[in-house]
Amino acid sequence: MSVTDDKKTVLDPFGTTAIEDYNRLYEEFGIQPFKPLLNRVPNPSMYMRRNVVFGHRDFQCVLETMRNHEDFAVMSGIKPTGEFHLGTLMTAREVIYFQSQGAKTFYCIADVEAYEDNKISFERSQKFAVGNVADLLALGFNPKKGCIYQQSKERRVQDLAIIFGRGATLATMKAIYGERHIGLYLSALIQAGDILMPQLKDFDGPKPTVVPVGVDQDPHLRLTRDLAAKFRRKYNFILPSSTVHKIMKGLDGSPKMSKRNPTSYFTLHDEPETIAKKISSAFTGGRPTVEEQRKLGGNPENCPVYELDMYQFVEDDDKVIQVYHDCKSGKLLCGEHKKQTIERVLKFVKEHQLRKEKSMDRSREILHME
Ligand code: SF4
Repeated sequence: MSVTDDKKTVLDPFGTTAIEDYNRLYEEFGIQPFKPLLNRVPNPSMYMRRNVVFGHRDFQCVLETMRNHEDFAVMSGIKPTGEFHLGTLMTAREVIYFQSQGAKTFYCIADVEAYEDNKISFERSQKFAVGNVADLLALGFNPKKGCIYQQSKERRVQDLAIIFGRGATLATMKAIYGERHIGLYLSALIQAGDILMPQLKDFDGPKPTVVPVGVDQDPHLRLTRDLAAKFRRKYNFILPSSTVHKIMKGLDGSPKMSKRNPTSYFTLHDEPETIAKKISSAFTGGRPTVEEQRKLGGNPENCPVYELDMYQFVEDDDKVIQVYHDCKSGKLLCGEHKKQTIERVLKFVKEHQLRKEKSMDRSREILHME
C-alpha cells in the first residue's frame, strides 16, 4: 500500500484508494506523465486522448516496438466477483485497443484473487467468469489473437508465483500492501506470474509488455518490476510497463465507484430503470438554482455525470468539448444533461447486452465449460 505522509494519496489494490491530486503521483510514486508521449502513439485510444490515461511506467519501451511493428504483449484481466462495471469496462477497452495495434493479448480471470480478497468460491467465480468473458468478446476482443485463462488453472502462472516467492520478503510485501493475510500476498505473487507469463518461451520469449491499470493497481506493477529484475538472469525478462488510468468518481460524489456503495456505480447488466434512477439521482457539479447555473455555469471537473460522457459514453472528442463548454457557460442545465446521458448509456447497454448474449456459448467454450 502506497501512502503519502499526509495520507491524502493512498494506493491500495486490496482496499481504499484516495487521490486528492494526480500530480503528486508523478513526484511521490514515480509514475511518469503520459501526455509527452501522446503525439508518438499510433491511433491513440479515447482514454489516452482525453488524459484519462494520465501516467505510465516505462511505456516508451512498448511504444517503440508498437511503432516498429515488432513483437509486444498486453496483459490484463478481471476479478470475477460480479458483472462488468465501468472500471472493468475501461481496462477491457484498453486491452482491446492494444490488441488492435498488434499486441499478443493475455486476459486473466483472477479467480485466486477473487477467493483471497473477496472470499468468492472457485465454483461461483467460474459462473461470473462466463459472463465476464462474454462481455469482453462483446466489446470486440478477438479470441483468435488472444489468450484467456483462469489463474487457478494456469500452471505456468502458478510455477512463476512459486519461484517468485523466493524473491519477496515479508518486509517487501508489507511495505507494498500493508499488513495483510498471507493469501493476499500469495495472490499478488500470482499476479506477478500473470504479468510475466507472456515473456516465457511458450509465448516466444521476452518482449515488452504493457499492463493497462487503474491507478489503484500500481502497487502490483511495482512488485512485478522488482521481481522481473531479480529473476532477469534466469528468464531474461524485460521489465513490464504500464499505462495508468484515473479512477471514475462515484455517482454519489464519492471519490471512487465502489461495490460497497451501491448508489455510487452501475453495471452493464443492471435493469435500465435502475441505471436511469442512479444517474437521475447522481451528484453533479451544478449550482443550487437554475438562475445561478445560467449565470455562473457549472463545474464539470467535479461532476460524475460529465465523467460518464467523457470517460465512457461519448465517442466524439468534439462533442465532449462541447458539453464541457456548454456546462461552463451555463447553457446546459443538469436535468437536461442527465436526460441526455441516460439515453446514451441505455442505448450502449442495450446493444452491449444483445452482443453479449450472442457471445455466451463462445465464452463457455473458451473456459472449457461445454
Ligand atoms: S450541466 Fe452536466 S456537466 Fe455541468 S454540472 Fe450539470 S450535470 Fe455536470
